[in-house]
Amino acid sequence: MAISESVVDLRSDTVTQPTPAMREAMMAAPLGDDVFATDPSVNALQEKIAVMLGFEAALFVPTGTQSNLCAILSHCGRGDEYIVGQQAHCYRWEGGGAAVFGSVQPQPLDHASDGTLPLAQIEAAIKPDDAHFARTRLLALENTLGGKLLPFEYVQAATDLAKSKGLQRHLDGARLFNAATAQAALNKRSDIRAEARRIAQCFDSVSVCFSKGLGAPVGSALVGSREFIARAHRIRKMAGGGMRQAGLLAAAASYALDHHVDRLADDHALAQRLAHGLEGIEGLKVEAPQTNIVFVDLVGAAQARSSELLANLNAQGILATGLYRLRFVTHLDVDAAGVDRAVAAIRAFFKS
Ligand SMILES: *Cc1c(COP(=O)(O)O)cnc(C)c1O
Repeated sequence: MAISESVVDLRSDTVTQPTPAMREAMMAAPLGDDVFATDPSVNALQEKIAVMLGFEAALFVPTGTQSNLCAILSHCGRGDEYIVGQQAHCYRWEGGGAAVFGSVQPQPLDHASDGTLPLAQIEAAIKPDDAHFARTRLLALENTLGGKLLPFEYVQAATDLAKSKGLQRHLDGARLFNAATAQAALNKRSDIRAEARRIAQCFDSVSVCFSKGLGAPVGSALVGSREFIARAHRIRKMAGGGMRQAGLLAAAASYALDHHVDRLADDHALAQRLAHGLEGIEGLKVEAPQTNIVFVDLVGAAQARSSELLANLNAQGILATGLYRLRFVTHLDVDAAGVDRAVAAIRAFFKS
């Protein structure tokens, strides 16, 4: 049965099931106890991602949220602050963890329409060394952000600025390989891993999710210097993220790095197909996707029909989310036929 004959799940790229080959890699993985640092599959994954992104060391963590938390708490202490975007996951979508667990204050900034944080605003937000202020320690960027690629020249300029002001630089690269895929296409380059490394090298630390577009069931990695990762390792322990026979999961992540990076372009092409399919429907405003996420706004009279549309699609086995805007995410478990089914269902809805 083709995947699209059952449910077309466009809610998120986190919904993918491990493929049969990935499951085989998991079953074959040699295991140890990672709290003793003796799980060969975890060690191999950490080595692989650190080398791939050009860093000294890496830490395998259960989630991207924990990875960002370990990063912020390793860069910052009590009473420090990090500059971050209003829409950034590690500010808006992680329950305020850095403030709750680390007494680290966020300094959120508004994004420009391309997802960037304007350099002048970053500079203006850096506090002088004065008892009135929290100590500004860190700039945290996210790429991709809401499916948008931060232009590479911007990433360089923002991280150079931060460095010149003595700040650490963290990238929430949950979808770094989607960013690298889009950046490679822009630059007419074909080595996605090299592109990911180029982006990552602008930062002191980078978090990458294996459980998004890469299609692993669980897991993220944090990369940085050996000393930084040693601090993060202690925080991971405090956060309850020291896992035992975690090689089962690391093997899936490792398999994803070997086999699912170069296919991300397929997801991006499907997002384009979806966006094009929705063009011209009265009441829909489709934001042209740069990667694997399509945002759609309902406008005019259609605005009030958001939940009705989602329920209608749901009844046909087509799943999407609409917390702020309608969102459709393509991934490993969606194919062209599934995308076409979604387009046809949405078209039919707006004819009715
Ligand atoms: C999903 C996501 C995370 C967090 O990952 P979880 O594994 O769900 O905790 C962090 N940052 C971004 C940008 C994400 O999309």
